[in-house]
Amino acid sequence: ILRAENVHKSFDKTHILKGVSFQIEEGDLVSIIGPSGCGKSTLLRCLNGLETLDSGMIEACGVRLERKPGAPEVPGEVAHRLRRNVGMVFQQYNLFPHKTLLQNVMMAPMVVKGTKKEEAEANAERLLKKVGLYEQMDRYPINMSGGQQQRGAIARALAMAPKIMLYDEPTSALDPGLVDEVLDVMKELDAEGMTQIVVTHEMRFARDASDYIIYMEKGDIVEISDEDEIFENPKDPRTRQFLHRFA
Ligand code: ATP
Ligand code: MG
Repeated sequence: ILRAENVHKSFDKTHILKGVSFQIEEGDLVSIIGPSGCGKSTLLRCLNGLETLDSGMIEACGVRLERKPGAPEVPGEVAHRLRRNVGMVFQQYNLFPHKTLLQNVMMAPMVVKGTKKEEAEANAERLLKKVGLYEQMDRYPINMSGGQQQRGAIARALAMAPKIMLYDEPTSALDPGLVDEVLDVMKELDAEGMTQIVVTHEMRFARDASDYIIYMEKGDIVEISDEDEIFENPKDPRTRQFLHRFA
């Protein structure tokens, strides 16, 4: 459902992604782990077309974005089509503060897809039920806990009916007590067959919930392994060294 091949990305003269390749299948839940600054966020942003590639190929749900070395930038329109299938949730809850939770979830389909208000509302209510926030739909983000806001952000991304969901450290801004309610929503989506990629420092979640784990270091994938395998018997010494800290 999603494939990356030899993706390169630099900022100024710093080479950040150095030929990243991997592939995930429909329904997979994949965790990406690795040290700070290794390029995890940059990779996620490339996967949904928020960041342009220098070269390489990304294909998601049949939309293919490819750039040969030195070729002109891929037109924004292609990135836009890619993004239609790919939802993203960031570390900082990004609900609009001046709108209620319900309005937040209704908005994108109405603005981007021209969905009728009644339909957008019914769909938003269904999604808020799913993430356990039906009772909170008229609240403003400021009156919600971090965990509620983050579940709201997930509902808002789901409102666009993405086929793949990307999460960039969705729980790292949360108080420890609020982490599980967000991870539980992701587990539930996994059970329903959603394809998900999560950059996370939650090693426990990575291990419990992932189909497999991608370990990145210095802009490249060092190891892709089964979740038990990578914790118990990492193939690469760099992975072993990194995970040692979490043992
Ligand atoms: P963390 O775990 O801290 O979130 P990360 O693995 O997500 O780290 P990235 O955010 O992808 O790392 O950043 C990789 C490198 O790229 C860093 O050195 C960062 O400073 C640099 N970088 C990221 N975005 C930009 C940008 N827009 N302009 C310039 N440099 C950037
Ligand atoms: Mg990051």
